[in-house]
Amino acid sequence: MRKTLIAGNWKMNKTPKEAIEYIQLIKNQVDREDVEVVLCPPYLVLQLAVEETRGTHIKIGAQNMYYEDKGAYTGEISPMMLKEIGVDYIIIGHSERRSIFKETNEMVNRKLLKAIEHQLTPIVCVGESLKQRQEKVTIDYIRMQIKIAFKGVSEAEAKKTIVAYEPLWAIGTGKYASKEQAEEVCGAIRKLIADLYNDDVSQQVRILYGGSVTSKNANDFFTQKNIDGGIIGGSSINEDFISLVNYGH
Ligand code: PGA
Repeated sequence: MRKTLIAGNWKMNKTPKEAIEYIQLIKNQVDREDVEVVLCPPYLVLQLAVEETRGTHIKIGAQNMYYEDKGAYTGEISPMMLKEIGVDYIIIGHSERRSIFKETNEMVNRKLLKAIEHQLTPIVCVGESLKQRQEKVTIDYIRMQIKIAFKGVSEAEAKKTIVAYEPLWAIGTGKYASKEQAEEVCGAIRKLIADLYNDDVSQQVRILYGGSVTSKNANDFFTQKNIDGGIIGGSSINEDFISLVNYGH
């Protein structure tokens, strides 16, 4: 049985003061033992978030990191730093990192290997553009993204890696994939993991859907056979997150 995971990707939202107020407001209501709830606030808020959620089941993740331990990389944050302050998860290769900050598949691979080295649980994002969907190359494109991302990742580590399917056309647009579309791609990703590794690995890997998930559609996605939770952007920075985490109730 794969445990459902719901990760709130706050993106570049909330100052430290706003973040603390928000976490205090929601924490008791999103603290579920049967669902892994992960908050991914901006770097500046990570340590406060770790402290503020202590004693709950809520975990903290970062939205990005660099793939070196330390050195002359102005403006970057290393996995060692994240680990030391109590961060457990790391989002890698979000489409905004790829498109705005020009992250390549090779960089995603290096980050994944580095996250594993430092025992951060990676959430690797993949997804196609609207054009690619229209050209019917969605699965081919995602296969390529995953193949490169997982290069050099052992079977044991692959099992613990989380994949997030986030179609670019659904992120922040309010235009979410149908549950059938999301399930189709997540199922294809699971099959691809089975081809790269084996059935055992593919049955253990958690695959999330992300893109305009709200409390209204969460239950539809999270009850699909191959969807094990979601990455939530817009609905993770307001009170909709409470109902969303309590989906199905
Ligand atoms: P959204 O963002 O929920 O606002 O569409 C999802 C994401 O970017 O992870």
